[in-house]
Amino acid sequence: MAMGEFELIARHFTRPSLPDSAVVLGVGDDGALLQPTPGHQLVISTDMLVEGRHFFAGAEPETLGHKALAVNLSDLAAMGARPLGFTLALALPVADDAWLAAFARGLFALADAHGCPLVGGDTTRGPLNLCITVFGEVRPGRALRRDAAHAGDELWLSGCTGEARLALALRRGEAWATGDVAAVADRMDRPTPRLALGQALAATPGVHAALDVSDGLLGDLGHILRASHLGAEIDLSSIPVAPALRGLAPEHQRDCLLAGGDDYELLFTAEAAAHDAVLAAGRMAGVAVTRIGRLTLEQGLHVRDAQGQAIHATVRGFDHFAD
Ligand code: ADP
Ligand code: MG
Repeated sequence: MAMGEFELIARHFTRPSLPDSAVVLGVGDDGALLQPTPGHQLVISTDMLVEGRHFFAGAEPETLGHKALAVNLSDLAAMGARPLGFTLALALPVADDAWLAAFARGLFALADAHGCPLVGGDTTRGPLNLCITVFGEVRPGRALRRDAAHAGDELWLSGCTGEARLALALRRGEAWATGDVAAVADRMDRPTPRLALGQALAATPGVHAALDVSDGLLGDLGHILRASHLGAEIDLSSIPVAPALRGLAPEHQRDCLLAGGDDYELLFTAEAAAHDAVLAAGRMAGVAVTRIGRLTLEQGLHVRDAQGQAIHATVRGFDHFAD
């Protein structure tokens, strides 16, 4: 590389330590040292973004920096964890200074917003590939696991789903997609990890299971149902519809809501007695939370429309999504 590997790391990925962070030793040694709060459990999650698969070739680097970290922080949010730090493994075809500066800008803006410092990584030449590992902590027994849902739990969703799917469709020129891509582009490019909500939920008695919706609401709900050996009923008319989706034909609107993907909202379950506490957690975190259904002892997934009619849906989404 024109710029040496060490120079690249020093210039773009080495920063003064954040006050009050868990980092005892960050970038520069053979390993980082983190000091979690005594008695807490570590939460660790990794996500890789590959050019051409997870983002378009030539994607805007600042956006990429944001998204690469956001999808990882979303996993911490879904566990109810507080972020401690992250590592970045980076394969780059060329060391392009302007590209790296923009990428680092997007990355660190989000990292700083959540007090989550970069503590190490690896840098190599190769096809563009971004792999981030995040470290977080939770109080023992308070992590929001997929296998912890109870029959009779209410099923909740943060924010709303489908806008990222619409943004993708508009960019691809899919015929059914109508509207202004600018209104939904940020939902695809700059997802907001629901960290404050995840932590508030983990601290709320009666909140049981959670995950972040990355592959579509129904498909991801299937992970909770399988892990918890339960079924669910969803009331379609209770799922919030973002303004940008209101002009779509009903079946496409439904696809976006239930099987869109790239939403990074939290889908979680809580006992009915915790209903008001869940609403309070949403208010505290500044994000809307909506009850969209309930968990059943009987396995399987039942989605009903506003008229109470069953909609043919599976945990893998809709039939026309299958190949
Ligand atoms: P080693 O050979 O001991 O693995 P490296 O030369 O790969 O060390 O990295 C030197 C230091 O720079 C290490 O502390 C490593 O964590 C850090 N580092 C390397 N690449 C990155 C990166 N992309 N972002 C942050 N830190 C990095
Ligand atoms: Mg190394």
